[in-house]
Amino acid sequence: MTTYPYVIVGAGMAGNAAIAGIRSQDPTGEILVVGEEPFLPYPRPPLSKGLWRHDRLESLWENLDDGPLGVHYQLGSPVIEIDLPAHRICTDNGSQFTYEKLLLALGGRPRRLEGSAAYVYYPGTIREHVRLALSQPQ
Ligand SMILES: Cc1cc2nc3c(=O)[nH]c(=O)nc-3n(C[C@H](O)[C@H](O)[C@H](O)COP(=O)(O)OP(=O)(O)OC[C@H]3O[C@@H](n4cnc5c(N)ncnc54)[C@H](O)[C@@H]3O)c2cc1C
Repeated sequence: MTTYPYVIVGAGMAGNAAIAGIRSQDPTGEILVVGEEPFLPYPRPPLSKGLWRHDRLESLWENLDDGPLGVHYQLGSPVIEIDLPAHRICTDNGSQFTYEKLLLALGGRPRRLEGSAAYVYYPGTIREHVRLALSQPQ
């Protein structure tokens, strides 16, 4: 099991900003970012703005530089368990990592209406954006 000096859970806007914060204090410590979505961090505002003016989906990552060295990503599986005494996290695909310092940057989620129909959309993720875009008449 790999131990990282820094583990960030949540590859969102706060998680991405935290990388820069850590690097300003520690230029070399290895950082692991664990994200539920299968994407590198992306800004959310364009989901309700630029992308509706026909910006390309790829433009979400245009301002993402190569990033500092020593940053690793484990994407596509949520963290489902944290063992605080053992400093260990576990994802739903069974991966486990130990950490020295842990940041939870999980954001928020819209409350889902019980039994809501397929045409109800919950903005905030690329997945929902694409689902809504594909449902629009061409
Ligand atoms: C459509 C839209 C438009 C917006 N427009 C604006 C704007 O114009 N101006 C503005 O100031 N703000 C805007 N916001 C708000 C802004 O985007 C949020 O405040 C910001 O994204 C919050 O950052 P965050 O990192 O806390 O959460 P997020 O960016 O949501 O990131 C959290 C990440 O954590 C992941 N995660 C959650 N649980 C787990 C887990 N158990 N394991 C692993 N990963 C997990 C999520 O999948 C997500 O990727 C907008 C938001 C949306 C949705």
